Amino acid sequence: MTENFTDRRDRMVDHLVEQGRIERASTAAALRAVPRHEFVPEERRRHAYDDRPLPIGEDQTISAPHMVGIMLDLLALDPGDRVLEIGTGCGYHAAATAEVVGTENVYSVEYHESLAERARARLTALGYGDISIRVGDGHAGWPAHAPYDAAYLTCAARAIPERVLDQVRDDGGRLLGPIGSRWQTLVLLRKRSDGSIDREDHGGVRFVPMRGGE
Ligand code: SAH
Repeated sequence: MTENFTDRRDRMVDHLVEQGRIERASTAAALRAVPRHEFVPEERRRHAYDDRPLPIGEDQTISAPHMVGIMLDLLALDPGDRVLEIGTGCGYHAAATAEVVGTENVYSVEYHESLAERARARLTALGYGDISIRVGDGHAGWPAHAPYDAAYLTCAARAIPERVLDQVRDDGGRLLGPIGSRWQTLVLLRKRSDGSIDREDHGGVRFVPMRGGE
């Protein structure tokens, strides 16, 4: 196995495109750009470009690449959009989002201080240091930087987190995340100018549970 990480990453993204799992050019470009092997523990690096979740410590996992891609596609982000992430984890998904919208437009909340600190150091080392990370319970969102064009959860909420929804903009703001307990539905909400909210369900998914919420 002399193949390097860049080649493996390209092949993984080629597969996702061929399978029709990701469609937007900006999503494919983001997944090609972010060195996923730098986000997983040393002993997992050889699996970094297998399309599957991997453990990252604190009983948490980095999502499978196809899931990050699907979520980027569904949020239909444009450069310059301001985005809130709930669940920084290792920082991979935030980096992929930053590739689309710009590092200075990504705000991420992480419950575990140890994960937030490691993500911050890693993102800085890889040139994504302008991503903002806060330690706290994502149920409260991050009101200081609202309104967001889009918000997404990388952990499963039992119900739509209303305060996060409040923090996405009124006309066209989106909230995407797994909603449910053991098994969840990937739900996309979009606020419309008349005050109503569209809901689309995008199938069954399995994410780690969102903590806190009391
Ligand atoms: N996006 C991540 C995936 C992280 S897994 C990545 O690319 O690695 C889900 C993350 O959500 C975990 O890091 C977990 O600690 C975090 N989390 C769980 N409950 C949370 C809460 N209430 N607020 C913020 N983060 C939470």
